Amino acid sequence: MLSFRLIAFDSMGVRSMATVVETKDVKIFIDPSVALAPKRFGLPPHDREVERMYELAKVIEEEALDSDVIIVTHYHYDHFDLGHKVSLKVYEGKDVLIKHPKENINRSQRVERAPLFLKSIEGLPNRIEFADGREFRFGSTSIRFSEAVPHGTNTRLGYVIEVLVESEGERFLFSSDVEGPSLDEQVRFIEEADPHVAVIDGPMTYMLGFRYSKESLRVSEENLRRILDLPSLELLVLDHHFCRELEFRERVPSISNMFKTAAEASGRRNELLEAMRRELYGR
Ligand SMILES: [Zn+2]
Ligand SMILES: [Zn+2]
Repeated sequence: MLSFRLIAFDSMGVRSMATVVETKDVKIFIDPSVALAPKRFGLPPHDREVERMYELAKVIEEEALDSDVIIVTHYHYDHFDLGHKVSLKVYEGKDVLIKHPKENINRSQRVERAPLFLKSIEGLPNRIEFADGREFRFGSTSIRFSEAVPHGTNTRLGYVIEVLVESEGERFLFSSDVEGPSLDEQVRFIEEADPHVAVIDGPMTYMLGFRYSKESLRVSEENLRRILDLPSLELLVLDHHFCRELEFRERVPSISNMFKTAAEASGRRNELLEAMRRELYGR
């Protein structure tokens, strides 16, 4: 038995990839946080986004409190929180598996965010493990991590670790912030995992031609086709950076009806509030 719940995602109106994976042995929370774009179209978050953020933060907190294992894939505030929106109590007594805070990490995460995080959860967890490239077992459940792979198309924003949960032959893959994926090292872990369900941070098309190249989009679409062709794959979820503009489906014409957003996969309608920010303000 392996089940998952997509708790908070960009298709639900916030910046997040907060996800619960549950097996017969263990309940795992991946990246228990939520954030909003400080500025989009020159506008600050709309009240509806703020409301949604606190609504989902509450769900994250409840689910994380009730988990055995908490994973943090990198030190961006949409993936970990310092207790502002999600209480630090969620780390109490937990096995906390985190991206290495000193190796393969960019400057701002290494000198500022990771130490701040470790300081704020000090003494709370049952144990803290640096997870890069490692495997952990809980009964018959395995949690395997990729080596650190670039956050997006280069390492300017640092590195993330991808996560594979396996129980009784069922495999669930969480890519974290790969923005595509467009790099071989990001795709390799997914291909070797051959997951049944893959939850992937899709191409960052809202920055197309600016901080995301057409070539990166082309390569990502090709890689996503390869992932869709994996023997075990049953469900591909694309979300996060991909769901920051309303036309996301048209950006990947060759696979436009072969994936779901996190909202769609959860039986909700898409509410890309950040992408709709101008409309929310009535402009
Ligand atoms: Zn990130
Ligand atoms: Zn992110």
